[in-house]
Amino acid sequence: MTPQQALEKYFGYNEFRPHQLEAINTILAGDDALIIMPTGGGKSLIFQIPAVIQDGLAIVVSPLISLMKDQVDALVSNGIHAAFVNSAQTSADKKKVLDDLYDGRTKLLYVAPETLLTRNFNELLNRLNISFFAIDEAHCISSWGHDFRPEYGQLSILKDKFPNKPIVALTATADRITQADIVKLLKIKDNRFISSFDRPNLSLTVAPAQKRLQVIDDFIAERPGSSGIIYTLSRKMSENLSTKLNARGYNTAFYHAQMEPSERARIQEEFINDRIPIICATIAFGMGIDKSNVRWVMHYNLPKNIEGFYQQIGRAGRDGLPSDTVLFYTYGDLELLQKFAMDSGQPEIQLEKLKRMQQYAEATTCRRKILLSYFNEQLEDNCGNCDVCKNPPKTVDGTELAQKALSAIIRTQEQISASMTIDILRGSGRKEIYELGYQDIKTYGAGRELSHFQWQQYLMQMLHHGLFDIDYQDHHKLKVTPYGKKILFGEKKLELVKIGSFQDLQKAQKPKAVVSKKQHKESKLFDKLRELRSEIAQENGVPAYIIFSDKSLRQMAEERPVSRDEMMKISGVGEHKYLQYGRQFSLIINEFNITEHNNEQSKIYGSTFLYTKKLLDEGLSIAEIAKKRHYSTMTIESHVARLYAEGEDVNVSSIISEEQLVELAVLLGELPYPVDSNLKKAFEHFKEEFSYAQLKIGGAHLERQKVKKTLF
Ligand code: ADP
Ligand code: ZN
Repeated sequence: MTPQQALEKYFGYNEFRPHQLEAINTILAGDDALIIMPTGGGKSLIFQIPAVIQDGLAIVVSPLISLMKDQVDALVSNGIHAAFVNSAQTSADKKKVLDDLYDGRTKLLYVAPETLLTRNFNELLNRLNISFFAIDEAHCISSWGHDFRPEYGQLSILKDKFPNKPIVALTATADRITQADIVKLLKIKDNRFISSFDRPNLSLTVAPAQKRLQVIDDFIAERPGSSGIIYTLSRKMSENLSTKLNARGYNTAFYHAQMEPSERARIQEEFINDRIPIICATIAFGMGIDKSNVRWVMHYNLPKNIEGFYQQIGRAGRDGLPSDTVLFYTYGDLELLQKFAMDSGQPEIQLEKLKRMQQYAEATTCRRKILLSYFNEQLEDNCGNCDVCKNPPKTVDGTELAQKALSAIIRTQEQISASMTIDILRGSGRKEIYELGYQDIKTYGAGRELSHFQWQQYLMQMLHHGLFDIDYQDHHKLKVTPYGKKILFGEKKLELVKIGSFQDLQKAQKPKAVVSKKQHKESKLFDKLRELRSEIAQENGVPAYIIFSDKSLRQMAEERPVSRDEMMKISGVGEHKYLQYGRQFSLIINEFNITEHNNEQSKIYGSTFLYTKKLLDEGLSIAEIAKKRHYSTMTIESHVARLYAEGEDVNVSSIISEEQLVELAVLLGELPYPVDSNLKKAFEHFKEEFSYAQLKIGGAHLERQKVKKTLF
């Protein structure tokens, strides 16, 4: 079997993504490889396909037990024989796994690193026919990576023990030091396959943190039932936020490292199985989760660095469908994180990383460019899918604005913080202002026309332009720089990005949900398919996305496959899945098609036919109705015939007499075809002795008689 054939047969996909095929061929040729791809990039296929094609067993080292089970479930659902061993298994389970291994049926075996090198396991390895080793999350071996795990260290001896077996290492960590470290520590050939880290299906938005609860509420309300994660800085915040959202009627849970492990596992399960759609969590959440239909990720607070941020937003949209990310940014968070960074063991590095994060949050150019440049990747064009691209900032002459603020600072002998500056500019009546006599300053109230929010944003920009510094040692007082003085005395001009009102900003950043009628129907069908999926998932005890991804369901809702061929064309429907579930899904689609057809019929029926009936009921004759409605009598007769055929209680005597009807029904009963399906033929058969309407009524009468016969 070729890799292409395996891709179609087992996974139901048509094309490889960039680097997948080359990497697969490298393994098939017996070489080592290091795969660097973002989360959701499609790393797993790279070792899964060679494992199925080749003789023998592939060993997959993976750090997380929960992930192992899901990956194995996903493989099994695609008809690939896979298993895992870990310490949590019962001995009966282990025996079953072992039996299958000795039978030689298993193609992939997932193990934790600490298991791999135990003596028992080593003996097992020596007796089996191993095709190659795959090391997932390979950055865990490097202390440079962000997730060093001591158990991974032992993997260094793998190459010594099995010098002839290829090792493929996989990671989503992009930085070069870690990559080189992985190659060195695993002693593998330096064969790197590096994919773009761009995830164009993720929209990027940064929003001011003011009123974020309301923004979140609106955001979720627009996406009913969709899965999402909200990351918060602290445990307490995750709990509070979840409570608040629940009080607003949403189904959310919180998650953090301080919870009981069993409770954590439960929440994770409920999330994976679409039973709790929204999780408010600290960054402890997500590592062991491979859920492909997370539709959005929000950051309630500013993250510490871009690596973490990118990993977290990467959990959205693994299925490749459009997904949203929102970061709430406030200066307060930045200050707090700066303090954390300074107190950390490595203040320089941490502050530098935070600065890059800040650049992202405050960007006035395409945010995706900034993100990717962090990973040493250059995007040529603006992405068009970030808030900056969608609402390019306008600049204004900010010299006068800056002068007002600087003058206020100078006139207080640089004794005020940013928030006091704003209060003075806005002419606040706060007690402290009067106590300190600031109401007499010339610029007191000189900035009333701007909101607190706008001043905050402008002051932030002024800070970045270097007009003043913040003295963190002394109550965050603002100190005007020499450059600031130049602006103050009119020696230089200053350009600022225009800040609209908060409401304007929210309006601009709100994703516009224009839903066409077709999309509306699609989403109704999608919901039905999703229901079926969750029933099947529950019966089989696997997460829903393992049955079919959202992407497959979306495509089904759009293309409505009912035959085998049509179903097999849907991305993600391989042979095994078609046999297992395909028909159930096409039945639902078929049913949906029929109901929709009927609804459409009843719409036509409803509008024009029922109006005719109403007029009949009011006692109008067919001729009168025709005149009133500007239709021919023939049309109205056809309405009456149709109503009669639909079982409505209408008087047809003006179209056909009782005797005639009985006679006609007998004649029609002798025709070799049902008259209803072939009115024209019958019309000709009787040499135009009966009108169309009469034939239709006759046919319906005949049907009614048949029904009566079978009933009595
Ligand atoms: P990673 O391990 O890199 O995070 P996965 O291997 O889980 O990513 O792949 C992410 C998603 O992309 C999965 O749903 C997978 O089935 C899908 N996928 C992988 N390769 C392809 C492909 N060539 N065509 C379509 N979908 C693919
Ligand atoms: Zn952009």
